[in-house]
Amino acid sequence: MHNSYHNHTPLCHHAFGKEESYVLKAIEGGYRVFGFADHAPHLFRDLIHASRMTPDELKLYVSTISELREKYKSEIDIRIGLELEYYPKTHESEVRFFREAGVEYFILGQHMTGDGCTYGFNSFAETSKKDHYTAYVDQCLEGLASGVYSYIAHPDVFYYSGDGDFYKKESDRLIAGAVSLGIPLELNLLGLSGGRHYPNPLFWERVSGSGAKVILGADAHSPERVYSREEIKAAEGFAKKYRLELIESIELK
Ligand SMILES: [Zn+2]
Ligand SMILES: [Zn+2]
Repeated sequence: MHNSYHNHTPLCHHAFGKEESYVLKAIEGGYRVFGFADHAPHLFRDLIHASRMTPDELKLYVSTISELREKYKSEIDIRIGLELEYYPKTHESEVRFFREAGVEYFILGQHMTGDGCTYGFNSFAETSKKDHYTAYVDQCLEGLASGVYSYIAHPDVFYYSGDGDFYKKESDRLIAGAVSLGIPLELNLLGLSGGRHYPNPLFWERVSGSGAKVILGADAHSPERVYSREEIKAAEGFAKKYRLELIESIELK
C-alpha cells in the first residue's frame, strides 16, 4: 500500500490526533501520496451535523493541510480531499464551494440516503427493508455518475440484513455501475479491523470477477491507524480470498 486517500482530521469532531501526526505516520509507513478526505461539512441546510467540521472550519482544514504539504513536500505528496455524501439537490453548489475553497478531490461515502437532513435513512442502521437498500444503491449510482468522485468509500456500508438474493442483485447493480464508470471500490480497513458490519462478504463475493478495481482505504480516525502493517496484511488476505483486483493508485478527479 503506497498511497492512501481516505484519512480524517480532528476537525470532524470524532477523529483524534494532530494533522501533523497523521503525516508523520504516513511518512514512516512509506506512503508516496497521502490524502486527507475528512467528512465534508454540511452546507446549504439547517442541520449542522455534530460529527462534521462546520463550514467555517473548512478554511482551517485546507490551510492546515496546505502548510503541512509545504513543510513535508520533499518527503511525501499530500493531497486535500473530502469524503462527501451525494445529496442531489445541493450537490453542484457544494462541489463548487469546496473546489473554490481548495479541495482537490472527493470520495463518495454515503452514510445517509435522502438529503441527509429531513428525510432518508442512516446506512449504519440495520434494516431488512428492500426499498432502503435500493435507495442507497440508486443514490450512490447517481452520485458516481456526477463524475466528481475519485472512488467510492466502503461501498458496502449500508447495513442490509434482509433477503440475501435481493442484496446480491442490488449489489451487482452498484458494482456494475462503478465498473462502467471506471470508478474503483474501496476495501475499508477501519471496518475490517474494527469488526464492523462491513466489509460484507456477500458484497465482495459479487465484486469477484466483476472487473471492478479495488483500492485499500485506511479511513484513519487517529494517527496510529494511518499505517498498520497488520491491518494491511489482513486486507490483502481478504482481497486474495475474494480474488479482488487490488490497485495501488487512483486518478484524482
Ligand atoms: Zn468518520
Ligand atoms: Zn471516512
